[in-house]
Amino acid sequence: MNYSILLKFGEITLKGANRAYFENTLLRQVRYRIKPFGKFNVFKSQSTICVEPADDGCDMDAAYETCKKIFGVIALCRAYETEKNMDAIEKTAAELAPVLLGGAKTFKADARRADKSFPLSSPEIAANVGGAILEACPHVKVDVHDPEVTVRVEIRDEKAFISGGQEKGAGGMPVTTNGKALLLLSGGIDSPVAGHMICRRGVKLEALHFESFPYTSEQALEKVRDLVRIIAGYNGAVCFHTVSVTEIQEALMKNCEEEYFTILLRRFMMRIAEKVAAERECGAIVTGESLGQVASQTIEALNVTNSTVSIPVFRPCIGLDKEEIITRARQIGTFETSVLPFEDCCTVFTPRHPKTKPTLENVLREEERLDIDGLISRAYEAKKQEWIKESLYE
Ligand code: ATP
Ligand code: MG
Repeated sequence: MNYSILLKFGEITLKGANRAYFENTLLRQVRYRIKPFGKFNVFKSQSTICVEPADDGCDMDAAYETCKKIFGVIALCRAYETEKNMDAIEKTAAELAPVLLGGAKTFKADARRADKSFPLSSPEIAANVGGAILEACPHVKVDVHDPEVTVRVEIRDEKAFISGGQEKGAGGMPVTTNGKALLLLSGGIDSPVAGHMICRRGVKLEALHFESFPYTSEQALEKVRDLVRIIAGYNGAVCFHTVSVTEIQEALMKNCEEEYFTILLRRFMMRIAEKVAAERECGAIVTGESLGQVASQTIEALNVTNSTVSIPVFRPCIGLDKEEIITRARQIGTFETSVLPFEDCCTVFTPRHPKTKPTLENVLREEERLDIDGLISRAYEAKKQEWIKESLYE
């Protein structure tokens, strides 16, 4: 049976004068994201977005699954269409009772009439529908105060709709409503998770990856592209930048103490990232760092890395354990790709004994042996840029 999808928006309803902007952004994103699954009518009605199939060719289940991933939607449910008379409404409610209840043991029925000329009042409609459901499923009970599921009947101008239990949506805020940030994306587990957390706050992501060809391979880069495709699944198309740090790494090897390689490389990454962020109008940098996870993620090392940039650096994984990060990576579908065994530029020339408590003074002394500006501008000038979409939209 065909159904419509009802999307509830959360926090964005609190945004006062900006409310229309948030809602319209969400509407546009819903339309864009479900486009591959057919022709739909998507419109706003009270504080709900309705997604109706415009013809019989719509894949409603695929659209529903996609809507579950759209940030800014706090809850969603399926609404089944029936003719606008009590017989049809009760019959549909009884037939769909198991689906509407979704395994719940208690429910209540609620009705709303947009069409006030409908012969029954809202409480009467609710009572009849509740009765029909009880008859179909005698094991469930009505609980008007604290029901597990509320079955809703809506009498609109042309048709009636019946909806059941709501499912949790992706939450957060619609992407782009909080500006743009640049995600430093390695091939690892942490950075895609960090990107997801920031994107969920309404931030559109661009991604920057540092490769070290020929020390890192084309396959390693392709794996990162695969991660970007998954990110595009909740972010929309991603502008993906790649910068080679080969010359920088070779300069480090030639001129600097081995124990400082990683921290020096990270300072180069941050400086280049800040340039890309400025060019692309990204207001912040996002990384997957987690406190104490490796030598370059101690408070001392993070301070030394951070002092190269002046825009905010968001590190949403900072307080998460590896286990928690892995759980999130599984939920967002990046884990399997992240653990594919390809080398990363950070793992090439890894010092045997990295400095865990570097001081800025010592790091600056190491950097005196390098042509920092020249290395950065050559790396930056050779930057490559491509747009990557989720596979569905290619
Ligand atoms: P991840 O699992 O994200 O690779 P990690 O635990 O391996 O993180 P590091 O290798 O120290 O930690 O990297 C810390 C952060 O620096 C990464 O989360 C990422 O944001 C950024 N980063 C590291 N390597 C790269 C790279 N090759 N390209 C872009 N960003 C990188
Ligand atoms: Mg890594």
